[in-house]
Formats: sequence, C-alpha cells, structure tokens
Amino acid sequence: MGRADRPVDEGCLFCRIIAGALPCARVYEDEHVLAFLDINPMAPGHTLVVLRGHYPTLLDVPPGEAGHLFTALKIVTVALRAELRLEGFHCLQNNFSAAGQTVFHAHWHLIPRTAHDGLALWAGRPYADGDQMRRLAESLSSRIAGGLSGGTHEW
Ligand code: AMP
Ligand code: ZN
Repeated sequence: MGRADRPVDEGCLFCRIIAGALPCARVYEDEHVLAFLDINPMAPGHTLVVLRGHYPTLLDVPPGEAGHLFTALKIVTVALRAELRLEGFHCLQNNFSAAGQTVFHAHWHLIPRTAHDGLALWAGRPYADGDQMRRLAESLSSRIAGGLSGGTHEW
C-alpha cells in the first residue's frame, strides 16, 4: 500500500516498517495510517500510530492528515480497551530530542492504563504566581493573533 506523492525517507526506521522492509507487530492499517506494537512498551499493548507519509514532527504534518490519524487513534484505542480491559489510556506524542523523540517520523503513543499499574508519567507543578500564568497566556494569545497560523512556522 503506498502513494507516489507521499514523502518517504529511505533511512527512516518507520518508513522502512511502512514499506514492509522491516517487520512489525501490526495492529491496524489503512490507506493513510499504520499502527503497530511498540517494541519496548510502557505497558503491554503500548501501540504506535504513524501516518504513512514521512513527517518528522507534528509541525510537519499537513492538517489534511489529521482526520485520518484521529480516526485510526480511536479505532485502535477501542480495540485495546476491549482486549485489555483498559481503565484509561494516554495518547502521547514526543517532538524533538529535548522532548524525548528518538524516531523522527511523527508517531502517536497509545499507552494502556489501569488505576493501580504504578506508572507515573505526569508530575505537574503549579506556577509560582497566578500573574505569571495570566501574562504567559496573554503573550501567547497575542503572538497567535499577530499572524501565526497552522502551526507551520519555523522551529
Ligand atoms: P519516541 O521516543 O517518541 O521517538 O518513540 C520511539 C518509540 O519507538 C519508542 O517507544 C521505541 O520503543 C519504539 N521503537 C523503536 N524501534 C521500534 C521497532 N522496530 N518496532 C516498534 N517500536 C519501535
Ligand atoms: Zn519516515
């Protein structure tokens, strides 16, 4: 399955899996998306959902792909929930090395959770003061109003 107009990087691990040159534990596929089990899971059933096109990070993904991705995420999650009796799940995505991205073909992690599985992925801390939070929201909002659109600006 493939389309000539889709970007491909022959050196990319996930492009090679998508092309069938490397194996994967496939869970779901359609014309736009492939989903397979993560080889080093945070929990059994941890699944990676990838677009077939080679888009290194979220910022490179054309907005037109979003619907296909979202549909696949839901299909796979419903299957995971039925199979593993999930009580919850994470849908996570890492972008750039500073955020822990190791494979530069954008992918979405579906990580099964149960209430007492002991995973601790979240450690939020409140803002030092409410003013700082308000100022940050205002400044972001002015930047967006000032012309950032579509999330396709230079990183
Ligand atoms: P990230 O750190 O967000 O870039 O995630 C990359 C993920 O890909 C990690 O969770 C790896 O365990 C997973 N991974 C790497 N190689 C493979 C592979 N051949 N098959 C399945 N998952 C893989
Ligand atoms: Zn790729």
